[in-house]
Amino acid sequence: MSGLKLNVSKTELFAAGISSRNLQIIKNISGFKEGLLPVRYLGVPLVTKKLSEHDCQPLIERIKLKLHHWSSKFLSYAGRLELVKTVLCSMANYWCRQFNLPQIILNRINQLCSRFLWKGTDQPAAGARVSWVKLCCPKSEGDLGLKNIKDWNTACMVQLIRNILAGDGSLWVAWLHCYVIKNEDFKDMAGKVSHSWSIKRLLKLRSTALPILNARTKTTRDVWEAVREKRIKVNWHKIIWFPSHIPKFSMIAWMAILDRLPTRERLSWMGIVNDCRCVLCNETNETRDHLFSECSFAKSLWSSILNLSQLHVPHMTWEEKICWASKEWKGKSLLTTILKLAWTSFIYLIWEEINRRIYHRGSREVDQVLSSIKELVRIQFRGKNINRIDNVNCILCYYWGID
Ligand SMILES: [Zn+2]
Repeated sequence: MSGLKLNVSKTELFAAGISSRNLQIIKNISGFKEGLLPVRYLGVPLVTKKLSEHDCQPLIERIKLKLHHWSSKFLSYAGRLELVKTVLCSMANYWCRQFNLPQIILNRINQLCSRFLWKGTDQPAAGARVSWVKLCCPKSEGDLGLKNIKDWNTACMVQLIRNILAGDGSLWVAWLHCYVIKNEDFKDMAGKVSHSWSIKRLLKLRSTALPILNARTKTTRDVWEAVREKRIKVNWHKIIWFPSHIPKFSMIAWMAILDRLPTRERLSWMGIVNDCRCVLCNETNETRDHLFSECSFAKSLWSSILNLSQLHVPHMTWEEKICWASKEWKGKSLLTTILKLAWTSFIYLIWEEINRRIYHRGSREVDQVLSSIKELVRIQFRGKNINRIDNVNCILCYYWGID
């Protein structure tokens, strides 16, 4: 009648109480596929019962498919982290906005993300370097800035309650007011047996949601901030996550700060290697503090970096260096940026050097590694506007070879 046609590829047919012969005739005439319950709308299932593991399978399958495409050992941790952040989280986020996701599904999504980050595949991430839930805090609290999907889901549901209270936001909210809430007030209406599982969940969430909504939160992010468990802020995050940081370098530096790198001493505790001596100097056990602070290789490399930066500071232990850097490397001066870049490169290249030696891919001397660091710093400043009237900057550019 309207002249509009149903799109065959987007339409499914559901039937009950007719013979399979008649069903076949209808299918032949219409060209529609026969659908399976639950009905899906824009990819999400329409159900009144508690969402089952089976209902969420399409989400899990899609995440797995993405992972399968990306499974590659050539991606660095930093590369995988970016992928987890953008794609996996946005897919899960879409579902988070529609449903109160069951715990079992939230756990499975977390598991998939964790395995992909640490192993690059959907293989068990046994001995994962840092537990997943621990990573899901902002960088200022010492984590990777991921979001715990459970908290995010709760925040989305609180926003849904905001829309219900305001009486707008979607057709579903209008429907809810018309057929479920009717003349009652959503704030204090009692739950009924006839309510669907998701409405019961929303009613239950009111005690958490109302104080948050009264606290002048606006965005889902604000609500998430109110919902999530906060941790003590760290003072070192700015020495690894800064505007011109190199992601894969910062990621290794972050693991070093948390002492999560699989050093030989750690691997020997786990029974993976027998010899836990440092491969750079062969003198003592390879621990984080040794590798990046006490080892003759690291000492010589770091003092060359300080020389290039015209700094004269005494030798420091690992902890002292982190304290000193967190306190001193502030602001956006050329020196600060050079030091942060050089320091993260220093950690990364030492880590690369020991792996190079362990896997017999040759070895490099301190001077060669220093040249690499200089080159990396030079590249990061290429085309950047540097105030060369400043005498300190001129000297730094000269020593570091920044043109
Ligand atoms: Zn050593």
